[in-house]
Amino acid sequence: MRNKIVAGNWKMNKTMDEAVALTSEIVNMAKDEVSNDAKVILCPPALYLTTIQKYIADAPNFAVAAQNLSDKLSGAFTGEISAPMLQSIGVKYVLIGHSERRQYFNETNAMLAEKVNVALAHDIAPIFCCGESLEQRQNEDYIGFVKNQITESLFHLSAEQMRSVVIAYEPIWAIGTGLTASAEQAQEMHAALRAHLADKYGAEVAEQTSILYGGSVSAASAPELFASADIDGGLVGGASLKSREFTEIIKAR
Ligand code: PEP
Repeated sequence: MRNKIVAGNWKMNKTMDEAVALTSEIVNMAKDEVSNDAKVILCPPALYLTTIQKYIADAPNFAVAAQNLSDKLSGAFTGEISAPMLQSIGVKYVLIGHSERRQYFNETNAMLAEKVNVALAHDIAPIFCCGESLEQRQNEDYIGFVKNQITESLFHLSAEQMRSVVIAYEPIWAIGTGLTASAEQAQEMHAALRAHLADKYGAEVAEQTSILYGGSVSAASAPELFASADIDGGLVGGASLKSREFTEIIKAR
């Protein structure tokens, strides 16, 4: 059975006090809602990771993720955070390839493949983000485009390594825009990505890989999205900054 995951990407939001308050509220409201086959993953700014870890310590099935990591292990890379650093504070997940990183920081599929490698080498599970722009959806083979992102950044991995990877399909046109992909649109892509994984790694690995949907997920849209056969939860941006709404999304998974 696949893990159901609801992850909250806080991006560059919240002061420390606000981050602690948000975490405490979510934990209080949601901790009894998360069953053993499910996970809630909070992705705060890296500065707060160790603090937020303390606030989720008594909440089984809660974890933190970093929003990014360097493809380098150490050295003169001012401002960067490495996989060994994240490992040294017990972080078990990292977002890799979010569309904002691809767009504003020119992260390429090849660079993301390196990030995936360093994460896995340090026991950190990548939550690998992929997705097409509106232009690509309208003018190109949008499924082929997203499959290629996966091919170029993940398909060098062994089947064993692939078992640790979570995929998040996030159509760029739905991120932060209030436009959610319909459950049919999301399911179409998720099924295609799972088939792509099956072609490369076989049905068993494909069946156990969690594929999350991201893009303006809200308490209203989550139940239908999460009920789709190949949608195993969500990567949530804006709505993860509101404790009540995020808790409703957690309950919907
Ligand atoms: C995201 O940034 O991963 C995201 C899905 O954002 P939002 O939910 O705000 O669209």
